[in-house]
Amino acid sequence: MSEFVDYVVSLLMDLIRIRTVVPPGENYSEFVDRIDRELTELGLDVHLIEVPKSRVKENYPDLADYPRYIVFAQLCNSKGKRLHFNAHYDVVLGGDGWSITEPFKPVFINGRVYGRGASDDKGGITALILLAKRVSTLREFHGCIEFSFTPDEEIGGLTGTNYLLETAPKPDYAIVTEPTGLSNIWLGSMGILQLDIIVRGIMAHASEPWFGTNAFEDGVSLAYSLINDLKRSIEGRVFMGERATLTLGGFVRGGFMRNLVPDYFQFSIDRRILPSEDVNTVLNEIVSYIDEFRRKNNTGSAIDVNIVNIIEPAMNYHDSVITRELMASIKDSLRVDPSLTISRVPVDTRYFQRQGVDAVTYGPGDYRSAHGPDEYIGVNDIIMASEVYLRLINKIFSG
Ligand SMILES: [Zn+2]
Repeated sequence: MSEFVDYVVSLLMDLIRIRTVVPPGENYSEFVDRIDRELTELGLDVHLIEVPKSRVKENYPDLADYPRYIVFAQLCNSKGKRLHFNAHYDVVLGGDGWSITEPFKPVFINGRVYGRGASDDKGGITALILLAKRVSTLREFHGCIEFSFTPDEEIGGLTGTNYLLETAPKPDYAIVTEPTGLSNIWLGSMGILQLDIIVRGIMAHASEPWFGTNAFEDGVSLAYSLINDLKRSIEGRVFMGERATLTLGGFVRGGFMRNLVPDYFQFSIDRRILPSEDVNTVLNEIVSYIDEFRRKNNTGSAIDVNIVNIIEPAMNYHDSVITRELMASIKDSLRVDPSLTISRVPVDTRYFQRQGVDAVTYGPGDYRSAHGPDEYIGVNDIIMASEVYLRLINKIFSG
């Protein structure tokens, strides 16, 4: 395996040096050209797909002047099952607090590469390119191995993996690399519902407050009730070891003069949804709670619920071929039984799962190291991931 170390380190450091920060989505064209060269040299059939500007405008209006590309590559031996590997190449901002190096000046120290995107998700990309390199010499399998490298995962993936799946034929199986760690598979991911609770009262002077309706006081009473009642019941729900949550007040707006009864107050709700829950039921639960609160307390202010963001939770099939074969491949390569968990944040795997593709998330790196300072990945983990993927290919195409 050590023969791959130099290749992996130099490729990964090259990829980290290209600052593919989103928003806005910089240097995407330079990045996909680099990947295109690498994969073409390995003998893969590579297509660069440009996401239409109109589409970017529709999904992310502020980012429409930055072009988006998807790398789609295939290695097909014959008609048969199609196994797809996906990784995203956008990264979050470099940020402060780095001590080992600067975010986009990668270094290799004690078997680890440090730099923004090392774990999330350029280490995954490197593992897949190494896989392509190893598999391109192995021509015995019957079927198609596909790779896609997509942008914009960090802002929701609508113009990345989602767009690819609207345009490309649907694979039979998919592995999405994210830093799950090598002995862990994410079978699903939690969803998000974000709401703004808008409370409208009647303004009055504080010397004669009885002429007004205090939006702040009504809003705070509602928030207090939500915290002590609904939040407790929601946060008692658990699925595969993960807990649903309700977070209030991340974003708050209200009054502006000390001597006025405020006629406006708003606070946000962030609800994290388990794959065992349904978005509409989750929304209705909050809306009916608020209706019931208003009725019981005879609240003077009007209260509206505005939906700001919805991301549905997702989960792979119960009896999945890819889960079973991936578990066996991990066991063969690493001599461990992988744990089966879900991700607390949305991942692009949900776009495959929503289309009925048998798909899970699995890749090298540590998600706790992602997005923070001194992000790193163990080079050996990248090589071992490619080993697991290689075994998976053998299992999928020999069965
Ligand atoms: Zn990621």
